[in-house]
Amino acid sequence: MGYNAAMARLGSWIEPNPDGIYVRPADAWIDPASPKARALITHGHGDHARGGHGEVWATAETLAIMDCRYGEQNGRPVAYGDSVRLGEVEVGFVPAGHVLGSAQIVLDHAGERVVVSGDYKRRPDPTCAPFVVTPCDIFVTEATFGLPVFKHPDTGGEIDRLLHRLHTEPDRCVLVGAYALGKAQRVITELRGRGHDDPIYIHGALERLCRLYEELGVPLGELRLATGVAKEELRGRIVLCPPGALNDRWSRRLPDPVTAMASGWMRIRQRARQRNVELPLVISDHADWDELTRTIREVAPSEVWITHGREEALMHWCMTRQIKARELNLVGYEDEDD
Ligand SMILES: [Zn+2]
Ligand SMILES: [Zn+2]
Repeated sequence: MGYNAAMARLGSWIEPNPDGIYVRPADAWIDPASPKARALITHGHGDHARGGHGEVWATAETLAIMDCRYGEQNGRPVAYGDSVRLGEVEVGFVPAGHVLGSAQIVLDHAGERVVVSGDYKRRPDPTCAPFVVTPCDIFVTEATFGLPVFKHPDTGGEIDRLLHRLHTEPDRCVLVGAYALGKAQRVITELRGRGHDDPIYIHGALERLCRLYEELGVPLGELRLATGVAKEELRGRIVLCPPGALNDRWSRRLPDPVTAMASGWMRIRQRARQRNVELPLVISDHADWDELTRTIREVAPSEVWITHGREEALMHWCMTRQIKARELNLVGYEDEDD
C-alpha cells in the first residue's frame, strides 16, 4: 500500500497520558488518576478506580464497589456485553476475569477497535465472570507478570497446601494475608470449593467488601470477625487479614499463627521473606507470562500497547511476531492488587 496522507495512524484518537488514557472523540478518560468529568472504570481496585469523577461509567458491580469505598458515585452502569454511545465512540464492557465486576473496555470508532483490558487473568475464578476474548486492532494490556519466569501454579494445589498445613498443626491458626478486594473473597470461595465448611475468621477491614460480594451473589459461607475472639477458639482455624496486618500488633493475639500470604509475588522468595511469610501461596489475579502471550495470540491485534508492569520481554515477544508494541508508561498503577 502506498503512502496515504489522509490515513491516520492506528488509534490516533486514543491519547495515553501519564494521568490515564484519554479517548478524545468520547471526551472520556479510562481509569484516570485524578478527577475527570467523564471516567470509564475497568474495575474497583484503588489504582484504577478513584473517587470524585463527574460521570462514572462502569459495570454495576464496579460501581457498587466504588460506592462502598468512596461513598455514592454518579454512576452509569453498563452490563457485560452491552454498549453505550459516548460522543462518537461506541463503548462496550466485557468481562476481564480479574475481580468481581472487572471489565475490558471495548472502544469502536472510525472503523477501528481498541480494547483496554485493565487488569486481567485467564484462569478460573469462582468469584467473577471469565475473560472474554475480543478481537481488535489495538489491545491495551498490563504486564504485571510479564516475564517468562512467572508461571502461576494451579490454584487448587495452593489451596490444598494451605489446608494441609492447617490440619497438620491443629494447635495453631493459619493467618492468610490477602487483598481486601478480590483476593480475600477468592481465597474463601476456593476453600469452600475444596470442602472447607468451617467458619473462616476475618479482620474487620475485610468485612464490608465480603458482605458486598455476598449481596452481589457470591456466597462465602460462615464468616466471623476475628477481633475480640478468644485465642482458644482460633486454634485450627483460618484467619484472613489485609497484607498490612500480617505482622502488626493485631496478629499478636492469635494462637501461634502460621503466616501465609496469597499473591503472585510469593513466587519470589525474597518477597515472602520481607513479610516474614512462612507459607507463601502463589495465587494471583493477574495473567502470568503464558496467559499474557496466549491472550495476545487469541485477540490477534495489529498493535499491543502496554500500560504498566515488566514490559520489555513482552515488547520483544510481540516484535518477533510482527506485532507492533508500544510502552505507555502510565503512572500510578501499583502492584497493590496482585
Ligand atoms: Zn486490579
Ligand atoms: Zn492494577
